[in-house]
Amino acid sequence: MSDKRMFINGAWVEATSGKTRRILNPFNQETIATAAEGDREDSRAAIQAAREAFDNGEWAGTPAAIRGSLVQKIADFIRRDNEEMAELETLDTGKTMVESRADMDDIAGVFQYFAGLADKNGGEVIASPLPDSESRVVREPVGVCGQITPWNYPLLQAAWKIAPALAAGNTIVVKPSEITPLTTVKVFELMEEAGFPKGVANLVLGSGAAVGAELSENVDVDLISFTGGIDTGKKIMQAASVNVKKIALELGGKNPNIIFADADFDTAVDQAMNAVFFHGGQVCSAGSRLIIEESMHDEFVEELVKRSKNIKLGNGFDESTQSGPLISNEHRAKVEKYVEIGQEEGAKLVLGGSRPQEKELQNGSFYLPTIFTECKADMRIVQEEVFGPVLTIETFQTEEEAVTLANDTIYGLAGAVFTNDIAKAESVAAQLRMGTVWINDFHPYFAQAPWGGYKQSGFGRELGHIGFEEYTEVKHIFRNKKPAALNWFA
Ligand code: NAD
Repeated sequence: MSDKRMFINGAWVEATSGKTRRILNPFNQETIATAAEGDREDSRAAIQAAREAFDNGEWAGTPAAIRGSLVQKIADFIRRDNEEMAELETLDTGKTMVESRADMDDIAGVFQYFAGLADKNGGEVIASPLPDSESRVVREPVGVCGQITPWNYPLLQAAWKIAPALAAGNTIVVKPSEITPLTTVKVFELMEEAGFPKGVANLVLGSGAAVGAELSENVDVDLISFTGGIDTGKKIMQAASVNVKKIALELGGKNPNIIFADADFDTAVDQAMNAVFFHGGQVCSAGSRLIIEESMHDEFVEELVKRSKNIKLGNGFDESTQSGPLISNEHRAKVEKYVEIGQEEGAKLVLGGSRPQEKELQNGSFYLPTIFTECKADMRIVQEEVFGPVLTIETFQTEEEAVTLANDTIYGLAGAVFTNDIAKAESVAAQLRMGTVWINDFHPYFAQAPWGGYKQSGFGRELGHIGFEEYTEVKHIFRNKKPAALNWFA
């Protein structure tokens, strides 16, 4: 028996196979829950429920304002249960309670934002070039949406998908990461409480290879929205071609943080630390490549190392903790491998590069903040996403060099530039091939602005009205007001 089950066609169910999976706390590897471990047939049952709920037309035909009010209820319930949900997220991911509480606030904001857009899904009247006719564009829901999410921001990433999809009148099958399902299960309890019709919102739990692959392959799914790693994204893209599903891919990043010597020193050091070490670097938009003007390199690195040494690792529930463990021992092993590679490649390790020594951290998947200097653009440690607390530092002399280095990866998710020269900042921002550029800041994102990548960071956008439109089909309706024979073939 599991204590976290799937939600299919309005009912909480075990996996058909009866299989379960233990969910671990990354702070101490203790079991915090047992989740149903679904398989392809569970995915198929959820897809069928979503298909029927879409095809019967009731949900898509529900007045948009009412759909919006149901989505708004989720926002209200999350605010009501904020502390309980933040605790679940911290248990499951190890992140600090401060981060988890902030996540829950953001998540409530996301549901509220899309609830508000539900009835603003207006069409457009086109000036028809033909006489006696009317031409208009309407937006309709896409259909059944498969939504697959990662472990680093479990509920936040799910909210970015669930809220716009439901507000726009789609039905959904959500698959959270198999290692962090707790808050997604909880949000389905809230949806049940809110009273969404049966089959509109379905939850499947289990591995990507089984449950997730079924979602991307199944011909009854009309759209697949995926957030996760680039290799998985490629598999999903291929699988989705079976029925030419619409796809949105939010993949990784190797995000540059460009700092010019005229930037405010203290602000830039503080933000550079935050950019890469927040949530142990397990952030798709982590500023893991510092690209710094050569003239200030030594002074900057000295201060950065001094401050980063003091980051307090610990239990996310301890209010003095500044950063929790990595998500798992397996993930830490991947980070360690990259640090090894960086050293072999000739980068100079100036901080970290090992696990912490403190006795109370030994059961957690902890890794020290790590900084490499003397990095070169062709090193793997500079090119590949480590997804851990590892910063590489490169230097530049001219704006052109800075931009070239910044753009020199396969990714294009986000980047930042710090300078007091606004013209320079705008010039750099215009040249960065990234979905988000921050000027004199790092990390801000919010429901109102679109999020997504250029290049191999993916395509499609989440959040903002563009994120809402991703969940709609565009239909042009043309009406001839004075129908008459054409006599073309007379
Ligand atoms: P992952 O690709 O391993 O897994 C993500 C999800 O895909 C999980 O739910 C997993 O079960 C599922 N999955 C795995 N194989 C699958 C398959 N063959 N078919 C269908 N689904 C499958 O990624 P992860 O390790 O959970 O997350 C880390 C990655 O996510 C990083 O690369 C990070 O950059 C990325 N990410 C991107 C964004 C963004 O907004 N661009 C946000 C957060 C995380």
